Amino acid sequence: KLCLFQKLKGKESITPGGKRILICANIGSVRDVERALENDAEGIGLFRSEFLYLGRKDFPTEEEQFQAYRQAAQQMAGKEVIIRTLDMGADKQAEYFGLGREENPAMGFRAIRICLKQPEILKTQLRALLRAAVYGNISVIYPMIISVEEVKRIFEIAQEVREELESKRIPYRYPRQGVMIETPAAVMVSDELARLVDFFSIGTNDLTQYTLAVDRQNEKLCDFYDPHHKAIMRMIRIVTEHAHKYGKKVGICGELGADTSLTEEFVRMGIDELSVVPSMVLKLRKIVRELKDD
Ligand code: PEP
Ligand code: MG
Repeated sequence: KLCLFQKLKGKESITPGGKRILICANIGSVRDVERALENDAEGIGLFRSEFLYLGRKDFPTEEEQFQAYRQAAQQMAGKEVIIRTLDMGADKQAEYFGLGREENPAMGFRAIRICLKQPEILKTQLRALLRAAVYGNISVIYPMIISVEEVKRIFEIAQEVREELESKRIPYRYPRQGVMIETPAAVMVSDELARLVDFFSIGTNDLTQYTLAVDRQNEKLCDFYDPHHKAIMRMIRIVTEHAHKYGKKVGICGELGADTSLTEEFVRMGIDELSVVPSMVLKLRKIVRELKDD
């Protein structure tokens, strides 16, 4: 079985009808890049940057971050590496953030909300990302977006960082910037978001949680956590249509992207990219290459 997949290395993920899907890997640290390469991922579709912030006593410095992002970009040798800005809060905590306890952490102070309230955290990360982008094909994606206004504010902050680097004559490259579509609000304004950003990636884990009002951490709710719910599939379809209307690409980086029972449907919908655990990359490539009558 292993051999079967080995033969797919170096091949494109393309349907018999000629439709190309990018099959990328999700990673949680620089060490995982190796796993992505072993499985011949066509890029990193989601690099969860939280690992840099977890299990330590203070914020990672710009330099530490720069080294990590640069290394990932260099190892991927020109293939796109989509790095997600900090997604702390909810299930991911670190003392030094001083977030305290919340009644309802999933709906609480997390991800981009922290970054917008404390822009210095985001600025440090963006400085590291823009500098690292000189060394490879880095794109940036923002988590937990709910509105166009948020994205405009983030872009202002990114511009400030760019101007600062420019004025100090520090080498940088301005990356493509996308947003995670993982709240129902983002789905509903995805036409407006599509005009603004370079690309979308659908986070079906949180999208399922927030759409079905089912805490993804609550074991009692396992039977209610249904990413196959018609509402989720309809949302994915709507988001894809909106993205394409403005010529923007859309990927799926939540767990649902690796669900082989849906690959055909995703391809028919026009999903451009699936980003999955490294071990699933070749399996999905095989399915895409063997799809019937597309
Ligand atoms: C998601 O929500 O689907 C996602 C990819 O992000 P995370 O699982 O890290 O919240
Ligand atoms: Mg998420």
